[in-house]
Amino acid sequence: MTPPSGDSSEGPGRGAAPSSAGPVPLPAPKFATAARAALSDGRLRRNLAGATAVLRARRDAATAELDDWEELREAGRAIRDRTLLNLDSHLEELERAVTGAGGTVHWAADAAEARRIVTTLVRATGEGEVHAVRSAVAREIRLDEALERAGITVRGAGLAELVMDLDGDGRPSHPLFPALHHDRARIRDLLAGGPPGTPADLPDDPAALAGAARARLRDGVPPGGAAICGAAFLVAETGTVVLAEPGGGGRACAVLPETLICVAGIEEVVPTWADLEVFLQLLPRAAVGERTLPAISTWTGVTPGDGPAAFHLVLLDNGRTTVLADEIGRAALRCVRCAACLDVCPVYGRTGGDPYGPGLPGPIGAVLTPQVRGVESAAGASLPYASTLCGACADVCPVKIDIPDLLVHLRGRVVESRRRRPVPPPELAMMRALAWTMGDRRRHEAALRRGTRWARLLSRGGRIRRLPGLLGRWTDARDVPAPPAETFRAWWRSRARSGGTGTGAGPEAGR
Ligand code: SF4
Repeated sequence: MTPPSGDSSEGPGRGAAPSSAGPVPLPAPKFATAARAALSDGRLRRNLAGATAVLRARRDAATAELDDWEELREAGRAIRDRTLLNLDSHLEELERAVTGAGGTVHWAADAAEARRIVTTLVRATGEGEVHAVRSAVAREIRLDEALERAGITVRGAGLAELVMDLDGDGRPSHPLFPALHHDRARIRDLLAGGPPGTPADLPDDPAALAGAARARLRDGVPPGGAAICGAAFLVAETGTVVLAEPGGGGRACAVLPETLICVAGIEEVVPTWADLEVFLQLLPRAAVGERTLPAISTWTGVTPGDGPAAFHLVLLDNGRTTVLADEIGRAALRCVRCAACLDVCPVYGRTGGDPYGPGLPGPIGAVLTPQVRGVESAAGASLPYASTLCGACADVCPVKIDIPDLLVHLRGRVVESRRRRPVPPPELAMMRALAWTMGDRRRHEAALRRGTRWARLLSRGGRIRRLPGLLGRWTDARDVPAPPAETFRAWWRSRARSGGTGTGAGPEAGR
């Protein structure tokens, strides 16, 4: 499937081609390297553990309330799969509906094109400042940085966004709760030191913090100008954008300005309002453990005298059609961004979102980012391994994405891509040497004898703390038991020589 390549609308993005070039590779370091800072930050780990435990408990209680939760999950999965298989026609229907309601649709093949479209639209308003309800898609295309580079100041619309803005170079940890990794004391310090008029002795209780942030945000959104938002869903039959927020700061931000620009991934489309009904039951319970989200807002084009006078919808491909072409990998596009899989993931629970790079964090990021950005870079290749394969993510996913299955599928792609390199990477060269050694009994036994001698020389108290060379990665996070003095094969031979009785103690006896 490819999205319609012609742009029926005026403005930038006209005639956008499908993303044959694909998204730019990940510039981030590989996951294990990026995770080191988080793993050594005790406060961050404590905050993450506390916040995700609360979310898990709420989710479990909210889903247990429904007798038909499993049927709902199955319905969500089926709608998503059906929609993805006919995505091109649903997108065309969406474009017709948005245009018919007075909006304008722009097709962005990749992140660069989306950034260009949005920057041009904001500049056209004549404003040097834009209000943004930040979304996963905006983070994916690094929209804020592009706007700042173009001289446009970006102001966040919610408490969490305000906290992240005040945090300077702080990056969001979580798609729904960007400041999840901060405790109340840290948020108090940021608020007390930042917004003008905030009392220096601001207490760190939730009501006082929310009040201080609300006052600042309310005053900060002037009527007129431009606003940028993402979308939880796009309803094709009416061309409606659905914004679902756990906070609600985004609604004022998006309603007051004259121009509203929504940037959304092409997979966010749902065919009808009846389909949306299923997701509006699944999403709040899975995301925040509530029966509904505090703020669900919908926009359909423009209405004279009410809300923004101009509405632009930027539909982003950025590698999604490539994912769609993969029969196994496409399941990741079912995601409704509830973040339930993050809250149960033992890896995310210790590292937070930063090490996953600019895409989605957590288990869904580990399967979606390498698919849209490729597995050729060290960062892309490392993400499918950022998991214990415990399966907790698949158990909670409201649209039944089998994330462990996708992780294994992507690990296969990583191995394949390495096989194709002209110069084999060290791991592959080592595996080939091992295959050659183990392919012949004599070679194998000679290597075992030598390896055992060396390993016993390296061991202290029955453990090897550090293996040399490439093998050293194995001992980065664990010790290896010293091998027994006698190999199993030698023991077996001596047992056979002694008429099948041997010593009876086995090779372990030589430890
Ligand atoms: S993969 Fe499933 S659980 Fe994770 S964010 Fe997406 S919908 Fe939610």
